[in-house]
Amino acid sequence: MKFTEAAPTAGLPLNWRDFFPYLFSQKSRFSLEEKLASFIGVDEAQVECSGTAALVVALEALKMLSDRKLVVISAYTCPWVALAVIKANLIPVLADSQSEHFAYCEKSLNSVVNHQTLAVVHTHLGGRVADVEKTIAIAKNVGAYVIEDAAQSLGAKLHNKSVGTFGDIGFYSLGVGKGLTIFSGGVVVTESLQIREALRRVGGNLPSHHLLELRRTIELIAYYLLYRPAGIGMAFGHHLRNKLKRGNLIQAVGDDCSFDFPLHKVGAWRKSIGASAADRLPAFIEQTKKITRGRLAILTKIPGVSVVLDTKGGEGVWPFFIVQIPSEEMRDRILEQLWNKGLGVGRLFIHALKDYDYLVPHFTDSKIPNAQVFASRTFIITNCNWLSEQDFAKICDVISEQVAHV
Ligand SMILES: *Cc1c(COP(=O)(O)O)cnc(C)c1O
Repeated sequence: MKFTEAAPTAGLPLNWRDFFPYLFSQKSRFSLEEKLASFIGVDEAQVECSGTAALVVALEALKMLSDRKLVVISAYTCPWVALAVIKANLIPVLADSQSEHFAYCEKSLNSVVNHQTLAVVHTHLGGRVADVEKTIAIAKNVGAYVIEDAAQSLGAKLHNKSVGTFGDIGFYSLGVGKGLTIFSGGVVVTESLQIREALRRVGGNLPSHHLLELRRTIELIAYYLLYRPAGIGMAFGHHLRNKLKRGNLIQAVGDDCSFDFPLHKVGAWRKSIGASAADRLPAFIEQTKKITRGRLAILTKIPGVSVVLDTKGGEGVWPFFIVQIPSEEMRDRILEQLWNKGLGVGRLFIHALKDYDYLVPHFTDSKIPNAQVFASRTFIITNCNWLSEQDFAKICDVISEQVAHV
C-alpha cells in the first residue's frame, strides 16, 4: 500500500484560519459573492449549492423569459449537465464534439439548433478555454441563449476577460476537486439585468436544508484535513483502487450520476470559509501555471501524444492535463500501468453522454461519433502541486514506451 498519493486535480488547499474568517482575514468584510464577482469581473455573483444546481437555476431563469424547450449540450461533458437539463423539465439535445477536442463540431452544432432551442451550453472543460465566440454566433442565429459551463475553469480567461462572461449566463463549480471549493457549491453570473433578476428570483425561492448543510460543513473540514499527500491515499486512493479492482470505472471517476441531486441554499459559515480561501486563489492559479509550462513542454514532445490546449487568445487554468493518444488500446495499456499507482493519472469522463446507461433513453437518436472517439482516446494527468518531478517523469516514461509500441 502507498502512503502518499497525488490528488486527481489541483485543488486549492484550505488553511485552518479559513474556519475562523472573522478572526484572521483582513478582507473578511467582503462576502464570497463579492469576492467572486470581483475575481470574475462582474457586478454580481450568485452562489448555489453545486455547479449542477447553478445550471438548474440558470435554466429556470431562462424559462421565465422564453417558452422554448430544447437545450443543446456537448456530447462529451459531465453527465450532471444532462441531468440538470432534465431536472429543469427541458429536453437535452446532443451536439457532437470534434474527434480531437471536446469543443463543438461546428457542423453538428449547426444541424441541431433551431427555433425551439432555448439555450446552447458551451463548455470550457478542465480549465481549457474553448472558442465560445463561434458558439455564440451559431446560437444567436436561431435566437437561443448561450450558457457557458466553466465548472472547472474559474480563473480562465479569453482575451483577458473571464470565461463565463461571454455568453448570456456563466456558471462555475465550487465542488471538491475543482479549485476553490466549499465541498459542494456553484456560482452563476450574468451581465444582463433582466436575467439577473430572474436568477435572483429562482435562487431566492430555494429552501434551506440544515441537515445537508451540516454534512457539507463536516465534509469541508474533512477536505481540509485530508487534502495533503498522506490524506489523499486514505480518502480518495483507497476508494479508487477498490472500484478499479471491481472493474467499476464509472464509479472510479465519480461519473455515477444515476441519483437525484439537491437544490438548497448554502449556509453562511461555509460561504465565509470559501471567502477566506478565495483570497489565495489568484496566487494559487499563478503557481500552478508555473509548474504547467515545463510539464506541458515535456508531454507534448512525446511523439503521438497531444495535449488539449486553449483556443487562440485563451489563458486557461490547469487543474490537470487532458491528454490524447492515437488509440484506445494504447490508452488502456497506459492506464493499466498508471491508474492505480497514486500518481494522479486517470480518466476524465468514461463515456460520451449517450453511452451512460442512465442517459441512454434520452439520446437514442443522437449520432455523436466524434465524442465517442474523443472519450476512447483521452486520459488525464493531475497538476496537483505535490506530484514530484520524478513521478511526472515516471508517467512520461510509461506513456513514451506504450506509444512507441505500435
Ligand atoms: C463538475 C462539473 C459540473 C457540475 O458541477 P458540480 O459542482 O459537481 O455539480 C458541470 N460541468 C462540468 C464540465 C463539470 O466538470
